[in-house]
Amino acid sequence: MGRLVLSVSQNAVVQAESAILGCDRCDRSATIPFWQILDRFRSDTVLAGTEIVYILPILGSCPNCRSQIDEITLVEPKSDLASPPVAPILLESKV
Ligand SMILES: [Zn+2]
Repeated sequence: MGRLVLSVSQNAVVQAESAILGCDRCDRSATIPFWQILDRFRSDTVLAGTEIVYILPILGSCPNCRSQIDEITLVEPKSDLASPPVAPILLESKV
C-alpha cells in the first residue's frame, strides 16, 4: 500500500464538473467527495490498492449553484454515472 499524490489536469476538473448535478451546498443528496468523480476518469488500474490524493490545479465550480468545489467537497453525481447504463430493451414483437 502506497500513497500517491496526483495532480489532475484542468481539463479533468471541467470534465468532472460536467458529471455532477450539485454539491453539498445546494443538494442534500450529495454524498460523494469530488475526488471520487475524478477517480472515475482515471483509466489506468495499475494503482489499485494505492491511496491516491488528488490535487486540483483550479477549484471546480458547482454546475448548479456555482459554489467552489475542491477535492473533498461532497457532490451528487449524475445518475448515469452511479449505475452502469441500462441495455436498451428490444421491442421485437414480430412473430
Ligand atoms: Zn451546488
